[in-house]
Amino acid sequence: MNQPGITYTIAMPEPHTHLYVVQIDITGLSEPFVDMILPSWTPGSYLIREYARHVQEFAAFAAAALPWRKVAKDAWCVETDGAARISVRYKVYAHELTVRTSHLDGTHGYFNNATVCMYVAGRMAEPLALHVDAPEGWQAATGLNDAPTDRLLAGPPLTPKLRRTSFIARDYDELIDCPVECGAHRLFSFEVDGIEHRLAIWGRGNEDAARLVADTKRIVETQRDMFGSLPYRRYTFILHLSKGYGGLEHRNSATNLLDRWSFQPEQAYERFLGLQSHEFFHVWNVKRIRVAPLGPFDYRAENYTRQLWTMEGVTSYYDELLVRRAGLMTPERYLEKLADEIVRLQNQPGRALQSLEQSSFDTWIKLYRPDENSANTSISYYLKGSLVALLLDLEIRHRTGGERSLDDVLRRLYTAYGGPDGDDIYATPTIAEEGGYLEAVEAVAGAADGAYREFFARYIAGTDELDYARGLGHAGLQLEWGYRAATSGDAAPAWLGITCKREGERTIVASVRSDGPAYNAGVYANDELLAFDGFRVDEARLDAHLAERAPGDTVTLTFFRDDVLVHTSVTLAAGPYDALRLVRVDPYDALQDRIYHEWLGITKQ
Ligand SMILES: [Zn+2]
Repeated sequence: MNQPGITYTIAMPEPHTHLYVVQIDITGLSEPFVDMILPSWTPGSYLIREYARHVQEFAAFAAAALPWRKVAKDAWCVETDGAARISVRYKVYAHELTVRTSHLDGTHGYFNNATVCMYVAGRMAEPLALHVDAPEGWQAATGLNDAPTDRLLAGPPLTPKLRRTSFIARDYDELIDCPVECGAHRLFSFEVDGIEHRLAIWGRGNEDAARLVADTKRIVETQRDMFGSLPYRRYTFILHLSKGYGGLEHRNSATNLLDRWSFQPEQAYERFLGLQSHEFFHVWNVKRIRVAPLGPFDYRAENYTRQLWTMEGVTSYYDELLVRRAGLMTPERYLEKLADEIVRLQNQPGRALQSLEQSSFDTWIKLYRPDENSANTSISYYLKGSLVALLLDLEIRHRTGGERSLDDVLRRLYTAYGGPDGDDIYATPTIAEEGGYLEAVEAVAGAADGAYREFFARYIAGTDELDYARGLGHAGLQLEWGYRAATSGDAAPAWLGITCKREGERTIVASVRSDGPAYNAGVYANDELLAFDGFRVDEARLDAHLAERAPGDTVTLTFFRDDVLVHTSVTLAAGPYDALRLVRVDPYDALQDRIYHEWLGITKQ
């Protein structure tokens, strides 16, 4: 292979400063100017993050320093002065540990290339080289291919005492889709179908590493069984054990961030399994099965699609379902978690206002930027999307007598749009933004007299209430709604419709539900709650008072609002259902029994 025309070097000479030193060597230039552009976001995390704000000390040089100036917030224009080969160099401050940003400290460097690698305008399709110059003893884990011959690519590290590892990328899109974890992490590996899978774990907590690796392998095998094959040559799981929670999918890797103490007890560990399963499922759904706006991307601006519910909602549906089918969660526990998700959506008034398609489209300004009013006006395409996927799956199983399922739709989409050889993931065709998903459903399950068309119109384009009773009934399950709080018999508890948060010694109203009595009585988010019927309260005391009252009682709440004392009279309402059990009907028919077992992956004794 020839030396690529563009080479990136990411150096970490002083990790404690949180500064990456980046050099880009560009050859083959013939124009008098070259524009260098840094992405404003990274795929999979749909928010403009303005990565350019962390760039400092930009410089360009050939034989001597070259003039340059900024021409946009994310763009640097360099005068080449006739040189065919130039270098630019800058530093990037990286002190934000999330899956979609970059971090560098004395223990490791984690970088998303969108935050550190400017592209050369007009040359995004070229093969690239990436050198990682890191302290002695650090190793780099990434989805990028190792450089085939170090001799051709190697030069001395950018600064002394660093050790160089070299990679290649087929183009800029691949570079952006392959974050790098570099440090003294623990590295585990296993094989499935002869393909290497690696887990690079940075940080320690209460994890059982051997179990974590074994369970991850089980998840990989279960998903391979669903799709038939693994569409990559190597896969890398990057795990950060620190604080927080999040995951980001890539074509042949994923980065997951978990609280270091979140691996015990068992129910906390389930969350890790769900996250591993979720990000891994994206290997197929989003990375290879995708709509056109989801790659190749415009890295400078919002990329709009109404289909994130298919990408993220369907993935969220399968993440725990496949953990269940992998045998890593009991059917009972799965149904408990499913019931909790139904409760969560049904307690968001925004479900009547925002459709799945609208939620997808507006993710750039809503889902990633939640505020105290979000639950009143919007829904998550993850949460509602997963429940719609559930109901669609059960509807297909019911209407085809158990012969077809959403699994078949996914397999069909993968065959039609995903590859078989998924290496050049953007070379494959994309699902039509308008109607493409419905078309695949009908191709698998039949048109059913327009039943699926109506389903999409009502629940995906529209905001009709989801018909859980019908859908879950297909699997022989019925819904038993109730209340979390202990009440006498089945009586509804007295309810205000606010949530509170603690700020030091103060109790602050965090949100006010638009369908609750406090909203109508004029309680505001950010009010500081002082008293309930004249007696001081905090959040726990408020709950205790409410438990002693009945719907219809009128109470007086006292607040500081913007430092002014306010009394508000509220007539308590009957609380909405906030607990749900999914129970098998008795008797159930043969089709319900078949659907129940096949859907949950239970082998009949
Ligand atoms: Zn996802």
